[in-house]
Amino acid sequence: MVVERIPFVDLQAQNAPLREALDRAVAGVLSSNRFILGPEVARFEADMAAWQGVPAAIGVSSGTDALICLLLAAGVRPGDEVVTTPYSFIATVEAILRIGAVPVFADINPETLNLDPARAAERLGPRTRAVLVVHLFGRAARLDPLAAACAGAGVALLEDAAQAVGATVHLNGHRHPIGTVGAGAALSFFPSKNLGGFGDGGMVLTADRAIAAAVRSLRNHGSDRKHHHQTIGGNFRLDEIQAALLSVKLPHLAAWTEGRRRVADRYRRLLQDLPVRLPPPDDGCVWNQFVIRVRDGHRDALAAHLAGREIETATYYPAPLHLQPAMAFMGHRPGDFPDAEQAARDSLALPMYPHLTEDQAQRVVEGVAGFFSSAGASP
Ligand SMILES: *Cc1c(COP(=O)(O)O)cnc(C)c1O
Repeated sequence: MVVERIPFVDLQAQNAPLREALDRAVAGVLSSNRFILGPEVARFEADMAAWQGVPAAIGVSSGTDALICLLLAAGVRPGDEVVTTPYSFIATVEAILRIGAVPVFADINPETLNLDPARAAERLGPRTRAVLVVHLFGRAARLDPLAAACAGAGVALLEDAAQAVGATVHLNGHRHPIGTVGAGAALSFFPSKNLGGFGDGGMVLTADRAIAAAVRSLRNHGSDRKHHHQTIGGNFRLDEIQAALLSVKLPHLAAWTEGRRRVADRYRRLLQDLPVRLPPPDDGCVWNQFVIRVRDGHRDALAAHLAGREIETATYYPAPLHLQPAMAFMGHRPGDFPDAEQAARDSLALPMYPHLTEDQAQRVVEGVAGFFSSAGASP
């Protein structure tokens, strides 16, 4: 019997039904002969601002570049400290270092896997210029009481929302769109993100006019009019073809997010009696990943067991940022951020996409159950 493979992400299922509209979008840009900062980027920016409920949305070349522009626009300069999480994709800390600033890590909350707001607030000091939270796996980071601590200290609160387009932030008992609580948020349109493009792309969301203007200038060589350069920026532009393609996908994003939430609910229900720790429920979460925690020492064996049943999984992230070779110069050691290190040892991401069927979810769960009932894996 041939067992059908369950991929970790299924872009084909998402893109195939849109194929004609996507082809038309590319053809339209080709005939327009406008490839850089034309009507498609402007339209996509306006649509994204409206969709996200934030005054300004500025398209840029990637999520990483969105972080760089956001940090610079918020006034972070070489030598300034930026408090952030040690448990994220490398781009979070890379953007800080790329502009010459100094990352200062605070440990994560072991339940949400996001930067722990109280631990982060403790790291604010005289040289802190910003705090960069990450809405990891689609779950908005808790900003109480961090937002108030930042405001009190004159520190910019920035959001790495690369995995969290459409998520909402809880603050003071209310939900707020990402990018509106602090100085701004960075989005990524990397193909596997919830709004995935056909190549690289990113965006800065902000409610702050000065930050919006600064990002617009920075993405285009520090220029707000031709041959006049206010600051040193770069080439961080989103291009017309990418914007046109993303505009085809945006109207479907709300339904896809609902699909992810259905998959998450299903996993949660089916997995509840198994000896794995489930991600906590959260209505505002957009589930870029569904990450379970597997008892020490069993994570990789479970992944191999599932791979043997044609079920793909992924490890986000096998090493925390402070222990990456590129960060060795910071002098961190194992034990410095124990909750991040624990998550790096025991988290496993299951297949997650809007089109994952009930049968597929069932098979994933049976695979997990089979692992724990087989002899070698018992406690
Ligand atoms: C994907 C990602 C980025 C970087 O986005 P790119 O578009 O790939 O540059 C930054 N931060 C986090 C948390 C991410 O997941």
